[in-house]
Amino acid sequence: MADNTVPQAQSPPLANDRAAEIKTLALQLGFDVVGITSARSPQHAAWFTQWLAQGFHAGLAYMERRQAERVDPQRVLPGARSVVVVGMNYYSGDPVGPGRVARYAQGQLDYHDVLAPRLATLAARICAWGAEARWYVDTGPVLERDFAERAGVGFIGKHTNLISRRYGNWLVLGAVLTTLDLPADPPARNLCGRCTRCLEACPTGAIVAPFQLDARRCISFWTIEWRGRIPEEWRIAIGDRLFGCDDCLEVCPWNRFAQHAAAAEFRPRALPALTEMLTWDDRQFREFFQHTPIFRLKRGPFLRNVCIVLGNCGDSAALPALERALHDPDPLVREHAEWAITQVRTRRPKLHSEKPP
Ligand code: SF4
Ligand code: SF4
Repeated sequence: MADNTVPQAQSPPLANDRAAEIKTLALQLGFDVVGITSARSPQHAAWFTQWLAQGFHAGLAYMERRQAERVDPQRVLPGARSVVVVGMNYYSGDPVGPGRVARYAQGQLDYHDVLAPRLATLAARICAWGAEARWYVDTGPVLERDFAERAGVGFIGKHTNLISRRYGNWLVLGAVLTTLDLPADPPARNLCGRCTRCLEACPTGAIVAPFQLDARRCISFWTIEWRGRIPEEWRIAIGDRLFGCDDCLEVCPWNRFAQHAAAAEFRPRALPALTEMLTWDDRQFREFFQHTPIFRLKRGPFLRNVCIVLGNCGDSAALPALERALHDPDPLVREHAEWAITQVRTRRPKLHSEKPP
């Protein structure tokens, strides 16, 4: 979790001037959008509690851990009055396959590391006015998307991600909670209308209803969050997705406003061939992926994904590499390599996902 507290300093001056200064600084720091909202409970707090109760979070421990704080910012920062929400555009052109990687993970650096120093600078400026501030990137006990919608940064679409009218579906978010009382921006309103493209595009039916995502059915969960064996009924649905899935984001009509990211850290870099990565040991994996989101998955689960994609591609040229992987020190890799070999030998290519039962 990326969070930090900066100690209190002097007394706060005029709220409007402070808000304007914070926004100017945020843009100077390279954030593409910034908005401010009050620190009252997120509007979807009850929905979030119900979502957890239904098990839609797929048992993700970090979601469960600080549940009370997520629905009550006062538990995160007593006396919090405002939340400054920032977004950074990470759109980086069209992905290439096979072996598709979610756009946010195609760059050189993990977005947590891109946002963190900038958020720390923003929080330090606020603290210099005598207020307290705590900043978060994504995994802290803060429902950034809710605050982002209320701060006018974008609206939450039916796929449950944030959509910006200026950047489409491609923003990463950060938030600064502060005891400073700042004027709130008008909230964004939902602009999905009658569109249902994301629900129809989801290859696994994970968007079980508008605004309801069942992570247990989501390819991003299985290929990014889940570290163990992937049940066989999900492997074919994964298709050629090596790390994550952007299908529900890609089809959203609001992407017509997408712009290429200004931040160089988000420029995509080419991956070696899947069969080459399958030969990597821990050191080679670390050298290539350190500082990227893929590094957090670790070598074994990543090579598990490589095996699944090779199995689904069905190219017999991958057989020698897969056969070598049968002797991998990690049993997770061995088991998925064995499955992939069977797929290549016995089945037609599965580049297009098939919905699991
Ligand atoms: S990320 Fe992929 S699997 Fe998950 S909800 Fe979106 S389209 Fe469905
Ligand atoms: S694809 Fe359509 S329904 Fe889904 S989030 Fe975008 S606008 Fe909303």
